[in-house]
Amino acid sequence: MSAYGSERQRRREGGARDYEGFECVVGLEVHCELLTATKLFCGCKNAFGDEPNTNTCPVCLGLPGSLPVLNGHAVELAMRIGLALNCTVQPSIFHRKNYFYPDMPKDYQISQYDIPINTDGYLDLPSGARVGIVRAHIEEDTGKTTHSGGGGRIHDAMYSLVDYNRAGVPLVEIVSEPDIRSGEQAREYVSELRAVLVAVGASDGRMEEGSLRVDANVSVRRPGEPFGTRCEIKNLNSLRSLGRAVDYETRRQVDLLVSGGAVAQETRHWDEQAGHTVVMRSKEEAEDYRYFPEPDLVPLAPDAAWQERISRAMAPLPAGRRRALLDSVGAEGPAMVERVATVVAQDLDGYVMAAVDAGAPGALALSRAANELAAACAEDASLLDALEPGHFASLVAMEARGDLTATQAKAVLAEMLTSGEPPEAIASRKGFEALDPGSLRRAVEEVVAANSAEWERYKEGEAKMAQFFVGQVMKATRQKADGKAVMALLADLLRGSAGAP
Ligand code: ADP
Ligand code: MG
Ligand code: ZN
Repeated sequence: MSAYGSERQRRREGGARDYEGFECVVGLEVHCELLTATKLFCGCKNAFGDEPNTNTCPVCLGLPGSLPVLNGHAVELAMRIGLALNCTVQPSIFHRKNYFYPDMPKDYQISQYDIPINTDGYLDLPSGARVGIVRAHIEEDTGKTTHSGGGGRIHDAMYSLVDYNRAGVPLVEIVSEPDIRSGEQAREYVSELRAVLVAVGASDGRMEEGSLRVDANVSVRRPGEPFGTRCEIKNLNSLRSLGRAVDYETRRQVDLLVSGGAVAQETRHWDEQAGHTVVMRSKEEAEDYRYFPEPDLVPLAPDAAWQERISRAMAPLPAGRRRALLDSVGAEGPAMVERVATVVAQDLDGYVMAAVDAGAPGALALSRAANELAAACAEDASLLDALEPGHFASLVAMEARGDLTATQAKAVLAEMLTSGEPPEAIASRKGFEALDPGSLRRAVEEVVAANSAEWERYKEGEAKMAQFFVGQVMKATRQKADGKAVMALLADLLRGSAGAP
């Protein structure tokens, strides 16, 4: 079994990862494409998926004599990111980063080097850990190459295609401190960062379209020792790849050290299919980018009033929304915290708040949102378009009053999502009016009388027969009965018959 296979088995068995006394150390570099209408230094459209090479002009094609003009909206989005990540937002300058690659027609990339717009912040994760942010700087994206024939990499390609639509698209690169300690935590960090970037309107968060791209720096050490030599892993375009790559790389480095070897500083490529990293280039081949200040752009010094305006107009961040929701439902404990996280991540907190405001119990509203709504949402987010917060509130209130059983409430909610009707209308069409206690007792007694052999087995102590009776009563009442109430009545009948000969 491969090293990775045995790790996977360990995880299935629920055991902690065993890295033979080593811990994993991770720092992430996340590239975020900004949601602007146009590119960073020209008026070309910033769009994904257009016909290749249609969104280009002399500036982003690097033609002689063209000059860059900085996109103000990109600067604003970068400042929002800095503020959301608790950074110092400061005057900054642009540099040229020189290197040759066919996806970059100018032969240099305009980026921020020693004086970036945002420095020294942090992001708090839902689990409580705090990850430091070294910097979040503005730069332009490169074009996109597609290597055809062979394995999809340049070395064995027959030919390569290049699309300059992406060349010059604005990016913010967010560099974390090496504060992350596992593949799972790396996923948590990127997931929370993505939620923040979406909340401030900087990103659409679509990792599968390359809107967010992650490079992971991984090293290992014994706790308390200085940091070890790191490898940088490229090509992580999903949370799943990120978690797997960090776990694989940690295991690889630990195995190297344990067998007496040493980790070499290198850039590695994650192969999702093969489930391993392979070396791309070693430190000796590292490029010298010959940075120098971009002579065609003036320093960027946003005035205090602009910064103030942006800071006042900031949308609520996920962490604040989670806190507000938790307060509003008045719940606590890990299960509730997890439900609150799910609800905010799926943008469902408005529904729960509306239900609580209308007087429905918070825990029940939270549960219906975190389970039924979230599941529906994951399948098809557009289902929520039909659901009015007021209708959701009424449904939760009906269930809380006992007008609907849990099973009925779920059935009604499912239909509300497709039809947009109020719950009262759906419930009465389905014949879901509440069953009074007297008729429920009669229904249970009738079912017991009609199934005397099964009742004998239940009396002998065959516990699973309870499920049989609940099922029969449900059938007889057309799902109107509440399972718990039926169980209580069955226990009652059992006690009543115990004394009989
Ligand atoms: P570079 O100049 O090569 O980009 P940086 O020092 O700016 O290197 O770090 C880049 C990323 O690598 C940061 O996210 C940082 O947290 C991370 N990093 C630095 N040292 C280590 C280490 N020993 N182990 C893991 N990650 C590290
Ligand atoms: Mg770097
Ligand atoms: Zn252009």
